[in-house]
Amino acid sequence: MPKLNLNRELMPRQDPKLRSRNFNEVALGYSAEQAKAEASRCIQCPKCPCVDGCPVEIDIPGFIKAILDDNMPEAVRILKDKNSLPGICGRVCPQETQCEATCVLAKKGAPSAIGRLERYVADWERANMGTSASSVVLPPPTGKRVAVVGSGPAGLVAAADLAKLGHSVTIFEALHVAGGVLMYGIPEFRLPKDIVQAEVDYVASLGVKIELDSVVGKLETVDELLNNGYQAVFLGTGAGLPMFLNIPGENLNGIYSANEFLTRVNLMKAYRFPEYDTPVKVGKKVAVIGGGNVAMDSARCALRLGADEVYIVYRRSEAEMPARREEVENAQEEGIQFKLLTNPKQFLGDEQNWVVGMECYEMELGEPDEGGRRRPIVKEGSEFIIDVDVVIVALGTTPNPLIASTTEGLKTTKWGTVVADESTGKTVKDKVWAGGDIVTGAATVISAMGAAKRAAASIDEYLNAL
Ligand SMILES: Cc1cc2nc3c(=O)[nH]c(=O)nc-3n(C[C@H](O)[C@H](O)[C@H](O)COP(=O)(O)OP(=O)(O)OC[C@H]3O[C@@H](n4cnc5c(N)ncnc54)[C@H](O)[C@@H]3O)c2cc1C
Repeated sequence: MPKLNLNRELMPRQDPKLRSRNFNEVALGYSAEQAKAEASRCIQCPKCPCVDGCPVEIDIPGFIKAILDDNMPEAVRILKDKNSLPGICGRVCPQETQCEATCVLAKKGAPSAIGRLERYVADWERANMGTSASSVVLPPPTGKRVAVVGSGPAGLVAAADLAKLGHSVTIFEALHVAGGVLMYGIPEFRLPKDIVQAEVDYVASLGVKIELDSVVGKLETVDELLNNGYQAVFLGTGAGLPMFLNIPGENLNGIYSANEFLTRVNLMKAYRFPEYDTPVKVGKKVAVIGGGNVAMDSARCALRLGADEVYIVYRRSEAEMPARREEVENAQEEGIQFKLLTNPKQFLGDEQNWVVGMECYEMELGEPDEGGRRRPIVKEGSEFIIDVDVVIVALGTTPNPLIASTTEGLKTTKWGTVVADESTGKTVKDKVWAGGDIVTGAATVISAMGAAKRAAASIDEYLNAL
């Protein structure tokens, strides 16, 4: 047996000094030589625990072997058999807690760089074959119609899987572009928008119709869709409603929700102002409240827009941060300052009601809470002030209540998420399925995709029995 190679191929990245002032992609991808070298580390173990760790069950050893065999079209085929959005997943999936966490190499050293290889295959396909589904053999049309509400990863994957089974699918999307958070939330420097568009185009090339600027619950309700010829509806409307701190001064000018800030910057291209006519306040001292991916993205956007100092203000320690490790490291390298064990008490404004400061508490960690993370506790009398002129609140999101409030018979939780069976996505309402952030609350791209795949299989079973 060949000796195990426990060190992974590093992926080239833009220099931190340069990248902290531009919106170009940070990670540059493997060359063909690097991809083959990394692929050769996979030991092709027969049990494939990596596949069990992948929510969409990609044949990981299979596509890695095809890279080694110089059979890139086969690598593409294997990858796309289970994953319609590989260029996206290869960039933003938390592989370190999924497929790579279960890789046998991880027991002794660095796991196979599965995400980076996935990205390599997707990028190769785009450059060499294009992403159209022209080579996919579709079954004869079943004549059954499905409405998919929302075009984030959940909606796109449900639509793609159902189209591949011969059903006629229409996606209704509220915004003027498809892609959900992939388009409006995750910044260009982590996930270039032409890559998202290429994968949306792939889904459309399977025959899926995408109706933009179509807010379900305003134009048509879910019941009206069902009464107008759709035999099933899949809800993939995500969790786009921001949460706030609810502390004094939060309505001051210069305080954004991360949703608004990122939508202005990414979807409405404020970073290319005045070429794009979207203003955004560029602060000199910017505080981002939160410790997840959304907080890291907001902080790194603020830096790239030209802020002198950007702080991540987080009430726990770095060990409890929910953001991907890689993105925390990227942010630190770029010069984002981390003010840990710190929590805002109130915001301070000037006479024109613009934010100028933030009074904060020092925090300490107590016993673990129900979720297993240590509870943050205020240190009484520890208040201090941080000068800021822009604040971005990135505390998390819940589902917009529009769908639940206009759809009779849908059951929701106290957090506003829709109740659906975990293994089928079936809601308690007849003919309606749901998956992704609308069910779980803010989670991950791949968990939304996994839920959508399970729901598509269940919808197919239902339609075939009609
Ligand atoms: C800034 C940011 C960074 C993130 N980084 C990562 C990361 O690195 N890795 C990762 O795995 N996850 C990340 N996530 C989380 C991930 O993006 C989400 O979990 C995922 O997008 C959820 O997919 P979804 O399809 O359920 O919802 P969404 O992506 O939110 O898509 C929902 C879509 O439904 C549309 N919609 C809503 N209501 C209606 C309506 N009434 N009618 C019609 N359309 C409607 C919305 O406009 C939207 O396009 C990040 C999230 C954010 C905000």
